[in-house]
Amino acid sequence: MLRIAIQKSGRLYEESVRLLKECGIQVNNGNKQLKTVAENFPLEIFFLRDDDIPQYVFDAVADVGIVGENILLETNKEIELVYRLGFGKCRLSLAVPKHMKYDSLKDLEGKKIATTYVYLTQQFLDDNKINAEIHSISGSVEIAPGIGLADAICDLVSSGSTLFTNNLKEVETVLHSEAVLVAGKGLSEEKNHILQKLIRRINAVKTAKNNKYILLNAPNHQLKNIAAVLPGSKAPTIVPLAEEGWSSVQSVVNENDFWEVIEKLKELEAQGILVVPIEKMIM
Ligand code: ATP
Ligand code: ZN
Repeated sequence: MLRIAIQKSGRLYEESVRLLKECGIQVNNGNKQLKTVAENFPLEIFFLRDDDIPQYVFDAVADVGIVGENILLETNKEIELVYRLGFGKCRLSLAVPKHMKYDSLKDLEGKKIATTYVYLTQQFLDDNKINAEIHSISGSVEIAPGIGLADAICDLVSSGSTLFTNNLKEVETVLHSEAVLVAGKGLSEEKNHILQKLIRRINAVKTAKNNKYILLNAPNHQLKNIAAVLPGSKAPTIVPLAEEGWSSVQSVVNENDFWEVIEKLKELEAQGILVVPIEKMIM
């Protein structure tokens, strides 16, 4: 049995549970228990505050966890980052009041900075040789300048709307973060085996999300050219159509190349292009 710690409520909770479900793991958390055992995978799920997850994994109370990279780095525990999950994206940024003169980090010299990320903020200031006073607070960091508690803040930002409504402007990025899968060091062979199985499933889900299945009709004289723009996992599948001189072509296209590929296919006389999502993709 592998024990995984995930956030019990908050920004990472839903996506963490969804990821497990997409991996075919049934998580029953109907009445908000502290822990639950998956029905069809050797996984026990602990629901915890995100800040506590690195410590629990470090202490081997949980074997693995899903946590923001920001928390992983701030707690600075000797645990391993095993997979970047691609959700919960945000950045840790320095922000100052909208009307404060700010040209460079030098403007923070001697200033008071409120944050819950004391370690990362200090490290950033040290790296940039800035002396500032860090004021550790545990929540609602964004109101600190407004009530005269600090001159600047260092906090998580995604859209920036919280900063905006508090009359602050983002001036420096300390860290780009996303949810990550972490694991304790020295997992038993059995646990490691389950972890590898979990990672393979996560990979299949993530790869599928980054790819689309594409079907189209093409005149036979263009098949070679079309095959050249559709690399697929190996080569496209080509099936003759009832209409003489035409074939149906099927392939997988990566999201990053998607629109470019579609443009080229149109130029190559492709017709009836269908694009469908892929649920799982096992490489
Ligand atoms: P807990 O009760 O578990 O301590 P919390 O209030 O500390 O919850 P949340 O606000 O739910 O934590 O954020 C959890 C994680 O979501 C953050 O650590 C970060 O990795 C990520 N995140 C993504 N976008 C944002 C954002 N705009 N603000 C804060 N966190 C964000
Ligand atoms: Zn927290």
